Amino acid sequence: MTAKATFHDVHIIGGGLAGSEAAWQLAQRGVKVRLSEMRGSGEMTPAHQTDGLAEMVCSNSFRSDDDTKNAVGLLHHEMRALDSLIMRAGEVARVPAGSAMAVDRDVFSAEVEQALQAHRNVTIVRERIDALPDAGLTIVATGPLTSEALAGSIVRATGAERLAFFDAIAPIIHHDSIDMSKCWIQSRWNKTTEASNEGGDYINCPMNEAQYRSFVQGLLDGEKTEFKQWEKDTPYFDGCMPIEVMAERGWETLRYGPMKGVGLDNPLDVTPEFPQGRWPYAVVQLRQDNKLGTLWNMVGFQTKLKYAAQIELFRTIPGLENAEFARLGGLHRNTFLNSPEVLDRQLRLRAAPHIRFAGQVTGCEGYVESAAIGLVAGMMTAAELAGRDWQPLPATTAMGALLSHITGDAEAATFQTMNVNFGLFPPLHEIGKKVRKEDYTDRAKSDLQQWISETREAVPA
Ligand SMILES: Cc1cc2nc3c(=O)[nH]c(=O)nc-3n(C[C@H](O)[C@H](O)[C@H](O)COP(=O)(O)OP(=O)(O)OC[C@H]3O[C@@H](n4cnc5c(N)ncnc54)[C@H](O)[C@@H]3O)c2cc1C
Repeated sequence: MTAKATFHDVHIIGGGLAGSEAAWQLAQRGVKVRLSEMRGSGEMTPAHQTDGLAEMVCSNSFRSDDDTKNAVGLLHHEMRALDSLIMRAGEVARVPAGSAMAVDRDVFSAEVEQALQAHRNVTIVRERIDALPDAGLTIVATGPLTSEALAGSIVRATGAERLAFFDAIAPIIHHDSIDMSKCWIQSRWNKTTEASNEGGDYINCPMNEAQYRSFVQGLLDGEKTEFKQWEKDTPYFDGCMPIEVMAERGWETLRYGPMKGVGLDNPLDVTPEFPQGRWPYAVVQLRQDNKLGTLWNMVGFQTKLKYAAQIELFRTIPGLENAEFARLGGLHRNTFLNSPEVLDRQLRLRAAPHIRFAGQVTGCEGYVESAAIGLVAGMMTAAELAGRDWQPLPATTAMGALLSHITGDAEAATFQTMNVNFGLFPPLHEIGKKVRKEDYTDRAKSDLQQWISETREAVPA
């Protein structure tokens, strides 16, 4: 289905968290928006329950509202400073939840819809869009459950391997929580490339036979989350197989798969016969996940173990006893782009720059993150329409850090969806003291304030 004619400057496809926020930001700047939402036209996604805009499909929480020590709380602060509709509606719909921000989802959705419906610059059209428009400024915010025909059109524009349909998430660990006295850095068979780090590309956490057996038993016994019925119908590739499924196939399967120790000389296990170090019985490898080197992912460790079970089991791995996880593993249906490869720094499709993407389909994860990327996409589009050069948000802000990650700083080869977290921020070493979470949030707040006062991007028309 292509859009019926209306007068608009920007066409937004998808009226979820991101599309609604983008529409608000544009409309407040005097830009005429057509917002196409397929729910309400007889269409539904497998997870939504209503026709309301900005429906929260699962939990009713925007997570922590602490803007002094928490990265998502900081994102709340920044969005409020930029007149976010999602945060405004969230405030109206707020229910008690301690330091978290939880909302009544029906009140929240109704608030968002009412504000957009009442806005003279917004036309909401209930229709499903099946193809990327050939021309005209467009924001695609169709989320993790993008409809099939549109996903096909995106695949034709980007290449099949650049649109994922499953989030096969391996856990990601903060580097400074890894005990490097128990592991070492080396690439298998010492195979390095020009881009390699000194000494190799992987942190190797070695296991002896007893440790390996107890670990595999932990995988077999650990509590798992179930696939939803509609997820069962979406095939996943062998490359996404959860580690516990591999463990079920036999004791040795993992040791000949992601945990194989061959070609890795453990310098902590040197004998006269093996002066370079013996190969470990099994190994867990960590690979750098962002350009800053602050985040490392557990290679091949996608899992459906429940979060608490993951933390308990993965902290039995040598070197990871005190691991802090930037995110835990998972596997669920999720349509998202390999954004570091296909989008430019302004969220535009390199192959068709009149099209921007926003929300979870860009590879951010979570209600708040999706809305934040919608907010930025709206501001960027408004700047483009006004003929202004976009002044990038400081990377020291939560929004800037998240945006930098998905539009180029993340490793494209291992790109997975990502929540906002302090590991995405540039280290603040230059301030010359131990970095506390408050250092990140203080710096972010002052840098955002300066950006707002120095640019016109934050100022509605
Ligand atoms: C099952 C599930 C549970 C989740 N639970 C949580 C959670 O508890 N907490 C959390 O923070 N995050 C959660 N997420 C992740 C994510 O934050 C939310 O999905 C969030 O809503 C993403 O915002 P979005 O605007 O990118 O997409 P959405 O909110 O999904 O909005 C996309 C919109 O596009 C519409 N659409 C799709 N295709 C078309 C088309 N072709 N034409 C027109 N309209 C179209 C859809 O109907 C939808 O309204 C969950 C995701 C899923 C899939």
